[in-house]
Amino acid sequence: METTVDAEVVIVGAGPTGLMLAGELRLAGVDVVVLDRLAEASTESRGLGFTPRTMAVFAQRGLVDRFAALDVALRTTTRGHFGGLPLDFGVFAAACPAVVNLPQVNTEAMLRGWVADLGCEVRRGHEVVGVTDTAAAVEVQVDGPGGRLGLRARYLVGCDGGRSTVRVLAGFDFPGTPATLELFLADVRGCDIRPRFIGEWLPGGVAMAAPLGGGVDRVVVCERGAPPRKRAEPPAFSEVAAGWHRLTGEDISHGRPVWVSAFGDATRLATEYRRGRVLLAGDAAHVHLPAGGLGMNTGIQDAFNLGWKLAAVVRGRAPATLLDTYHDERHAVGKRLLDNTRAQGLLFLGGAEIQPLRDLIGELTHHEVVHRHLAGMVSGLEIRYPVGPGAHPLLGLCVPDLPLEHGAAATSVFPLLGAGRGLVLDLAEDESLRRSVRPWTDRVDVVTARLVDGGSIPKVDAALVRPDGHVAWAAPGGQEELSEALGRWFGPRTAESRE
Ligand SMILES: Cc1cc2nc3c(=O)[nH]c(=O)nc-3n(C[C@H](O)[C@H](O)[C@H](O)COP(=O)(O)OP(=O)(O)OC[C@H]3O[C@@H](n4cnc5c(N)ncnc54)[C@H](O)[C@@H]3O)c2cc1C
Repeated sequence: METTVDAEVVIVGAGPTGLMLAGELRLAGVDVVVLDRLAEASTESRGLGFTPRTMAVFAQRGLVDRFAALDVALRTTTRGHFGGLPLDFGVFAAACPAVVNLPQVNTEAMLRGWVADLGCEVRRGHEVVGVTDTAAAVEVQVDGPGGRLGLRARYLVGCDGGRSTVRVLAGFDFPGTPATLELFLADVRGCDIRPRFIGEWLPGGVAMAAPLGGGVDRVVVCERGAPPRKRAEPPAFSEVAAGWHRLTGEDISHGRPVWVSAFGDATRLATEYRRGRVLLAGDAAHVHLPAGGLGMNTGIQDAFNLGWKLAAVVRGRAPATLLDTYHDERHAVGKRLLDNTRAQGLLFLGGAEIQPLRDLIGELTHHEVVHRHLAGMVSGLEIRYPVGPGAHPLLGLCVPDLPLEHGAAATSVFPLLGAGRGLVLDLAEDESLRRSVRPWTDRVDVVTARLVDGGSIPKVDAALVRPDGHVAWAAPGGQEELSEALGRWFGPRTAESRE
């Protein structure tokens, strides 16, 4: 018997992860409610910009132009760094650029506009205080403006940040290491601070500074040996200014703070991303030193991986086991994120004793293979999911935005993913390939096109691209029938086609 639910999916947290997930679910027509305990959206600048892989996520859904509609100009670059050692993402052919110095509030505002246009309900001032996973549904207790209420959903996703209540209430383990130091951050007006985009190594630690526009500068104070402290309130700006002075000798105490915060290097990863009908995504599943600015990016990509799978399960098109691939794929990414940010933290925050190691790794980055390895790690472009058998070099990777001729029109791969559906690219006019997709065309689009310029991309005649842009099958080199890959990722063929 069908269980009555108030929403097919309840998402806790309207941060970047929760909003991205809400948009993905709404694209597939899922009935979603987003709850956030804050009465108003956060104004904290936090993550500045996003990586090439997140830029690809936004481009694949046609979201990049939404920044212009908000009057937000994107400053793009191919430059990045690993623990302060410069890198160039240009080593990846056809990669999107990264975006720098864009306060997270803008990314969240863009996503809020998108989910509102998709008809998603975001209930603010609603704090989740109880979670019970029954076999048939998840029951959620919420304290809202009108008092306590109960909601029942088929699935609940905790996108409620590093101190996730959902994670605790649903009994997820979150092992790792506590903070070993305290760092300060301030967005400050009225100081003309010399930019140090990837940080300046100084005898006492590292000083970072970047202009945020509108006369506001971001400073980050990383003093070696500053012990972690439990704080009920953010630090006073005078503490940050004093730390900045100790490091750089510069006086910024006359500045007018816009936002002041302290953070640390606590590093933790949920052992499971799914327990029954409850899932975790974003900071709720992983916390780490914000080295290289990867937190928000990883959360958005968690949501991008989960959204289409959860939609397929809720819609009854795929078995619930498809959700286990969310854990398998994204837990591995989370583990790598923790290793990577720990290594960056050592390189970045270590003292004179690690300078020889820093010099050595700096030398190694001049070798292309090392440069690619590290650039792939911090850009998200290295992510290769174990999608199934096959030998094609693109298998499991994010599809590049290859230029195509489609009928008389010029296009490229990313705009073909805008609706969040699967995509079979037929680049060699193969009628038998198109025939084998027919039983899935309610979920998968087939596009016959000509590759205009593959650049240095390996030869590709056909590809199955998942809604999250990852290549699930490609020819030549597909070691199984396309229909097997379609069945694995998109569920059984339609009933009519089996008759
Ligand atoms: C100083 C600093 C610098 C950073 N720099 C970068 C960077 O450059 N690049 C980058 O990618 N990331 C960066 N990050 C990390 C980034 O800000 C986070 O990873 C990101 O905000 C995580 O998004 P989220 O949606 O998972 O969680 P959050 O943004 O934390 O959102 C969680 C939401 O859940 C809500 N919530 C919590 N509990 C409940 C509850 N019980 N009921 C209802 N609602 C609840 C909260 O109100 C909040 O709105 C930085 C972080 C810090 C602190």
